[in-house]
Amino acid sequence: MSGLSTFVCFTKQVVEYHLGYRSNYIVGIYRHPQILRRYSQVASPKDTQGAKNAQISSNERQISFKDATFENTLLRDACSCSICLDTSTQQRRFSTGQIPLDVRPKSLVQANKNGEYEVTWTAKGVEDHVSVYSQERIAQLASPLWRYNNRWRFARDAVLWDADTLRGNLVSRLYDDYMNDEEAFKDVVLGLYRTGLAFLRDSPTKERTGDMEIVVEKIAKKIGYIKETFYGTSWDVVSRPDAKNIAYTSENLPLHMDLLYYESPPGVQLLHCIANRAEGGESVYADSFHAAYQLLEDDPISFYNLTMFPITFHYRNDGYHYVYTRPLIELDNFYTKPTPEHPVVQIKCVNYSPPFQAPFEHFVTHSETAEGNVEFGEFIRAFNKFEKIIYKPSQQFESKFKPGDVALFMNRRVLHSRRRFTLTSSTQGNNDDGSYGRWLKGTYLDIDSFYSKLRELSGL
Ligand SMILES: [Zn+2]
Repeated sequence: MSGLSTFVCFTKQVVEYHLGYRSNYIVGIYRHPQILRRYSQVASPKDTQGAKNAQISSNERQISFKDATFENTLLRDACSCSICLDTSTQQRRFSTGQIPLDVRPKSLVQANKNGEYEVTWTAKGVEDHVSVYSQERIAQLASPLWRYNNRWRFARDAVLWDADTLRGNLVSRLYDDYMNDEEAFKDVVLGLYRTGLAFLRDSPTKERTGDMEIVVEKIAKKIGYIKETFYGTSWDVVSRPDAKNIAYTSENLPLHMDLLYYESPPGVQLLHCIANRAEGGESVYADSFHAAYQLLEDDPISFYNLTMFPITFHYRNDGYHYVYTRPLIELDNFYTKPTPEHPVVQIKCVNYSPPFQAPFEHFVTHSETAEGNVEFGEFIRAFNKFEKIIYKPSQQFESKFKPGDVALFMNRRVLHSRRRFTLTSSTQGNNDDGSYGRWLKGTYLDIDSFYSKLRELSGL
């Protein structure tokens, strides 16, 4: 019953915004007001004009510039003087918790001859403090668009794809160019973010033992640092008779993401094909963000349910015991709201990996409040709808590894899978040179180092 009342509440609060995105709208989700509100904000022209030509007024709590009003406390917190910020590191020398709640300007705020605003802050029992804000800084502080542009501008270029769209947008470059030509490197990194998938061709396949760097690690380290897991810094995907993981068999491996039983699953995965003499074994990729947004359009309630219902992933084998619980769709809670400029980033990640799911427990709930709960049947219905989308042939991009190919993909967005393969007896197992009939070497890249590189390459 509680679930039903949630649906009724939610239906009433679904608001469609005409934002010119895809089929011309995004559904802004207003959750139950007691839980959380999520607004779809459209940046207005005044966001970028900021506080130029300000007419300033202030009261006990606020300072109003022409186009923006700030709480005194917020503006005081933004002080960048040398008492507040260390001049060499730009790190804070105070805590927000120390800001007096009654802080206010001592006198009328006016622009000085350089057009900057000088504010002398006063508060009971605290020494006066002088802050200077440029007009530009005031405009920045007032602008969600500025915040977005300075941290996530590259997200505007993200392309949600079905297989046809991907073919027109996929970046595939030569390994030598990636390693030696900065433009090619940038193309791969930006392309990897844009579609969640990129390829390198003609990379070295003669893996050697000894101190020579492993090729796939070298490729990853050019972007950032490796996310080491219990598989090591890199690992071999070969079929083994005593496999501890379905990946190490020749069976069909359905669409999934890796290591969702970690609190911090790897953000990017790289697979380097060293040998492939198998029949079958094609890789299939699908864009989970595209599927999630399609679900949002077709059936917003199912989308909502998938953001709420907890799924537990686990790995318990070989002396390891990993477990983590998360919903299928995770939204960004903070400043990345959908607007015409940046529709994609509101979904932070999708978590889909049926082989590693733990059983759902009786009376599973996500929330202390009954209103927020989603019934299991409703979750299954929504989950099934999502799966129908990702398994549509038109949504699936298929590619077979040739020796020297490297696939790079965003593990929190792009689903990957492998079709069943067979090796004839003459190529099964080890060959003289120590290679396998089908041999991929993989590694993971730390997501924060990837985003850092992406910002640097985007000039942010
Ligand atoms: Zn200061």
